[in-house]
Amino acid sequence: MDLDSLYQEIILDHYKNPHHAGLREPFEGESRQVNPTCGDEITLRVHLGDGADGERQILDVSYAAEGCSISQAAASVMSDLVIGKPVDAAMSLHDEFVELMQARGHAEPDEDRLQDGIAFAGVAKFPARVKCALLAWMAWKDATSQAVGTDMTTRQEGVR
Ligand code: ZN
Repeated sequence: MDLDSLYQEIILDHYKNPHHAGLREPFEGESRQVNPTCGDEITLRVHLGDGADGERQILDVSYAAEGCSISQAAASVMSDLVIGKPVDAAMSLHDEFVELMQARGHAEPDEDRLQDGIAFAGVAKFPARVKCALLAWMAWKDATSQAVGTDMTTRQEGVR
């Protein structure tokens, strides 16, 4: 099996069996994002809490997504990656994924860090589909920023 077929297989698996799908409570941040060029829509919620070391942690990401297989698979892969991670670590995965998608297929994705997210390296070759792959991550970043804002009394420290 060549790499492109393998990538397609991973995306299709997540599309057919999306992980962490559905909107759940409690949540501290919610974001709705639309990709008009493709018709993708997502509503996504983030629930934060304290990790073992006292760091703010992503306890849950829940979502309702409609649209193409790439946008829905991206939501599934993204939630797998960030749930259970400290906010800062999840944010750096976000940055890494955005970088991969902007590399137009020239980046060497780090499988240890991005796991099934590497499948979107193939999508990065098609500029029209990049927005599909990034939609869930945009929603996650927006919802997390809200959650961190409502959650922390000292907003000015460490928050972009
Ligand atoms: Zn799409």
